[in-house]
Amino acid sequence: MQFTTTRLCHSGCSNSNMYLCLDCGELFQEPFMYVEKHGEQQMCCPYCKGDYVDTFRCDECGEWICSDKYYIIGKRKYCDECCMKISLE
Ligand SMILES: [Zn+2]
Ligand SMILES: [Zn+2]
Repeated sequence: MQFTTTRLCHSGCSNSNMYLCLDCGELFQEPFMYVEKHGEQQMCCPYCKGDYVDTFRCDECGEWICSDKYYIIGKRKYCDECCMKISLE
């Protein structure tokens, strides 16, 4: 069994979430807020105004999990691929 301990930790090691647009696939930190005519506030993708989901770095490979699917095993979050790998071990 092989462990990779690459941690992609940038300054401050913040836990700030990123968001992933489901329409255009862009990653962004701050959703765009627009106000509809009747005053309702909507959060959306700043690039295409599409729907977005929270996204995380995979705790195994450090990649952004680029789908609305991720797996939480214990306290760690995994992408599809790593989840497959782990479940095969
Ligand atoms: Zn978008
Ligand atoms: Zn992964």
